[in-house]
Amino acid sequence: MLKKSTSAYVHIPFCTQICYYCDFSKVFIKNQPVDDYLQALIREFRSYDIKSLRTLYIGGGTPTSITAQQLDYLLTELTRNLDLSQLEEFTIEANPGDLTVEKIAVLQKSAVNRVSLGVQTFNDRHLKQIGRSHNEAQIYSTIDALKAAGFHNISIDLIYALPGQTMEDVKENVAKALALDIPHLSLYSLILEHHTVFMNRMRRGKLNLPTEDLEAEMFEYIIDQLEQNGFEHYEISNFTKPGFESRHNLMYWDNIEYYGVGAGASGYLDGVRYRNRGPIQHYLKGVNEGNARLSEEVLTKEEMMEEELFLGLRKKSGVSIKRFEERFGLSFDGCYGQIVKELQANGLLKKDKDFIRMTKKGLFLGDTVAEKFILE
Ligand code: SF4
Repeated sequence: MLKKSTSAYVHIPFCTQICYYCDFSKVFIKNQPVDDYLQALIREFRSYDIKSLRTLYIGGGTPTSITAQQLDYLLTELTRNLDLSQLEEFTIEANPGDLTVEKIAVLQKSAVNRVSLGVQTFNDRHLKQIGRSHNEAQIYSTIDALKAAGFHNISIDLIYALPGQTMEDVKENVAKALALDIPHLSLYSLILEHHTVFMNRMRRGKLNLPTEDLEAEMFEYIIDQLEQNGFEHYEISNFTKPGFESRHNLMYWDNIEYYGVGAGASGYLDGVRYRNRGPIQHYLKGVNEGNARLSEEVLTKEEMMEEELFLGLRKKSGVSIKRFEERFGLSFDGCYGQIVKELQANGLLKKDKDFIRMTKKGLFLGDTVAEKFILE
């Protein structure tokens, strides 16, 4: 019998605003059939007959854009048949300003034990410029309310290299983030994606982005400050105080299989990477007909090996050579000895008997190093 996965990702594709940089699978919530969607989602979730999970993650979109009653339905039904004693981490993404008193009360009585907030920046002018609907004051009030309700495992997302952002702005953001006294932080540079408002503006020459040098300086400054303040840079984009690593995200980087549920969600089960239908009506129809999936890809051994390296190297702890050899029945050095040597010579990779890991410089350069392991 196939081993059951112990992690699940659940997608809520609704948002109360559409940010100018966003290319995630989402729609504006107004006039959407949210109740029908939630029922379909629970139906899909039940189809997997999940009895026990280690990590459960509700992402979006904005999961907290739905009403308190809808949120209550979602959280209750997702955990109805679960052995909660096995559930180590249950994260929900939220936006500052969305979490009303009623919604926080719903979270409090649920099994959720981690909240990831899309803060992005503390600067009200920049928040407006990127199309977010919250403001700085709402960041503080949301975090205070979460802490008062007993949530201490809180993470925030920050974006740097925003249009018009200066080094001074970044310094202010970091100081304000540290003052929140929370244990986890994810950090992304602004990426211009196709079909976004920002990409249009860029094409019309109307987006004043920081230069690449300034962007690198910003990243270096943020890493230094966070490390000086007790955070570990444990993954390319993630920082944690001891013991607060995102267990769900570590599961992705450890290249472990998981259920992906909801419109546009991706999953990885029984060696197959799949993607669900995206548009809500297509998804509803798919669930009704007993198949929500849009595409499935059976990974070849080579692809699995590449993913093991590409994902694993994102972590400071690196990739286990022993695990690789056991999993694929191949000599690690035979496959990658030459690439590893070159990256070591450039000071980007370290290797000991059991692990290969990125150096500080390698982590700083991010995916460009891991990409070297993708064979043509
Ligand atoms: S960034 Fe988040 S809140 Fe903004 S549109 Fe995208 S999914 Fe919605």
